[in-house]
Amino acid sequence: MNVAQLIAKKRDGCELSASEIDGLIAGYTHGTIPDYQMAAWAMAVFCRGMTPDETVCLTQSMLNTGRPLAWDKGRPKVDKHSTGGIGDKTSISMAPILADCGLDVPMISGRGLGATGGTLDKLESIAGFRTNLDSNEIRALIDSVGCVITGASGEIAPADKRLYALRDVTATVPSIPLITASILSKKLSEGLDCLVLDVKWGTGAFMKTLAEAKELARSLVGVATQMGVKTKALITDMNRPLGRMIGNGLEIDESIDILKGCGPADATELTTRLCAELLLMAGGADTMSSAMARIDESIRSGRALQRLNEMVRAQGGDLNSPRPRAADETFVADRDGYLVMNDCEALGLAVIEMGGGRKKLGDAIDYNVGIEMLSTPGQPLRRGDPIVRVYSNKGLTPIKGMLQSAMSVRDEPVELTPLVVEIIG
Ligand code: URA
Repeated sequence: MNVAQLIAKKRDGCELSASEIDGLIAGYTHGTIPDYQMAAWAMAVFCRGMTPDETVCLTQSMLNTGRPLAWDKGRPKVDKHSTGGIGDKTSISMAPILADCGLDVPMISGRGLGATGGTLDKLESIAGFRTNLDSNEIRALIDSVGCVITGASGEIAPADKRLYALRDVTATVPSIPLITASILSKKLSEGLDCLVLDVKWGTGAFMKTLAEAKELARSLVGVATQMGVKTKALITDMNRPLGRMIGNGLEIDESIDILKGCGPADATELTTRLCAELLLMAGGADTMSSAMARIDESIRSGRALQRLNEMVRAQGGDLNSPRPRAADETFVADRDGYLVMNDCEALGLAVIEMGGGRKKLGDAIDYNVGIEMLSTPGQPLRRGDPIVRVYSNKGLTPIKGMLQSAMSVRDEPVELTPLVVEIIG
C-alpha cells in the first residue's frame, strides 16, 4: 500500500499492521514521507484512535528510530514520568533517593510545556549544570553516582521530536495513542526495568478531567507493560500546586528541603510514595512500609542529599552556588473566608509572565522569579492575611489579575480532593 492508502485505511477506522506503522514512522523520520501526509495520518489517528496493539507498534517504531540505551545487568534501571503540573519538582529529589536505595536512574527529562515547568529548566537554574549529556556521559554518571538527569539527545526517539512538532501545529496533540507513543518512545529508550507514572488531573494538568487522566494512565501502563517494563501509574491531584514553590530556582530550593526532611507535606508525600512504588516493583523492598522506611532512612541520614550534590557536581554544577531570588511582594486576602484554588494553571502562566518560562521557543528564562504559596487551599483566612509571595523583577501588578483568577476567598469551607486518587497497574 502507498502512503495515501494507509492514511485512508486509518481514516476508515481499520487497524494498521506493525509493518505498515513501521514504514510510516521510518519514512517520516528519514524524510521520504512529507509533513502533509503525516499530518493527515495523525488526524486520522486523532479521529479514529488506535488499538492497544497498534499503539505498542507505534511506540516500538518510534523508539527504533533512535539508539536506545542498553545496559549490562547490574542494578535495576528505573525512572518516573510525570504528565506535568504546577510546582511539580518530584524528579529532582526522587533520582538521588532511588540511587541511594540501590537503583539506577538514567532519567531523560523535558523542558516546560504549556503552563507547567520542566525539570531541565529547573536544574539549569544551578549555574553550570549541563543537560546535554551524550550516552557515554550518561553511562559514566550511572556508574559513578547511580543517577543522572539530562535532556533527550538526537539518539533518543528522533521520530517523536518531528512528530510532536507536527502535532503541535495540526491540533493532534490530545490523542491518547499519540501521547502514549510519544511519552513511552522516549522513556523506554532509557532501557528501563521499571517505570512509575504520575498522571495528573485537574485545572493545572494536561488532563483536565479525572476520566481523561485514567484513560491515559491505562494506555501508558498497558503499552509499557506489553513492552516488557514493569509499570504503575498514580493518578494525582493537580487542582492545586504541588508544594509551596513554583518557579525554577525556587523549586530547586524546595527539592533540597525535601531531601533535608523539611519539605512541604504534599510534595514530600508524593516524592516518597513514587519512590516506594519503584522500590517495590524493582525488588528493593517487600512491603510498602519497608520501602518507606528505607526511603526515610536515606533522607534522614543525609545520604540522598549527598547523592544529589554528587550528581550536580558531575553534571558541571554546584548546589552550593547562590541562587538569588528576585525582589518580593505579597498578595493578600481581600476578605475573610476560605482560600479556594479556581484555576491552578493561572499560577503557572503567571510565572511565565514574570519571565520564569517561555512564551515562544528559544525565549531566555529568568531563574530567580516565581511564586511561594504562603497559604494552602482550604485554609481559613482573615482579610489582609498573606496568600502568596511573588518574586518578580516587574513587581506584582502585571500578574495580579492572573492571581485573582487563580484563587479567591469564599465564605464556605472547601473540600480538597485526595493527592493520590488511584493506582493503575
Ligand atoms: N508529553 C509528551 O512527551 N508527548 C505528548 O504527546 C504529550 C505530552
